[in-house]
Amino acid sequence: MIAENLEIIHGNIAAAAAKAGRRADEVELLAVSKTFPPEAVAEAYAAGQRAFAENRVQELLSKAPLVPSGVVWHIIGHLQSNKIRKALQHCRILHSVDSVELARDIERIADEAGVYVDAYLQVNVAEDGRKHGFTTASVPALMDELLSLKRVSVVGLMTIPALDPVPENSRRHFAALRQLRDRLQAQTGTPLPGLSMGMSGDYHIAVEEGATIVRVGSAIFGGRAART
Ligand SMILES: *Cc1c(COP(=O)(O)O)cnc(C)c1O
Repeated sequence: MIAENLEIIHGNIAAAAAKAGRRADEVELLAVSKTFPPEAVAEAYAAGQRAFAENRVQELLSKAPLVPSGVVWHIIGHLQSNKIRKALQHCRILHSVDSVELARDIERIADEAGVYVDAYLQVNVAEDGRKHGFTTASVPALMDELLSLKRVSVVGLMTIPALDPVPENSRRHFAALRQLRDRLQAQTGTPLPGLSMGMSGDYHIAVEEGATIVRVGSAIFGGRAART
């Protein structure tokens, strides 16, 4: 079942990429395994999937020791500073760097741990008051400091638009993230290749708008029970 779902999603990514004149291999599929057991990760791994994501450090810590060692973990949820050290035990790719203070804390702890981290800046392009993240207006003035970090490499931007039953409605938010990325690249002269955007319902739209990594959970693993 998981293997079939992965195949279908790869096909959809390829079709969306082709529609936008992009190559399918410009888009990475990140399997969001939150709430699913290590067995589900192992099943996807056996089908060739390597990149997996959790949104809670606690769940990452309990799951990581139980999955194949070739799994590459990403963190996609709001990270509290007191969880950074634990997160870095298993993960070097953070999609949810949502403030300068957090970036500074990651820098300090990564330095102590002797590791390097790839970071996506989470931008709340939809100006959704319930979501964490930089605003489109705030991020340009912060880039010099963010790009000066030695242990944290800013590899691009990430966004989570509010869930919308009509996937097409997310398109403008994805386009806004890409345009912001283009402006920041021009401003800083630093490449920011990564665009982490698109989930189960709208990853095809995100790929059309330039996503380089899509975060897909339920379309791979099935429906999630609500968290309590
Ligand atoms: C849960 C989650 C996803 C995946 O959501 P699905 O709708 O299950 O694909 C993607 N990104 C973030 C930040 C998430 O928390």
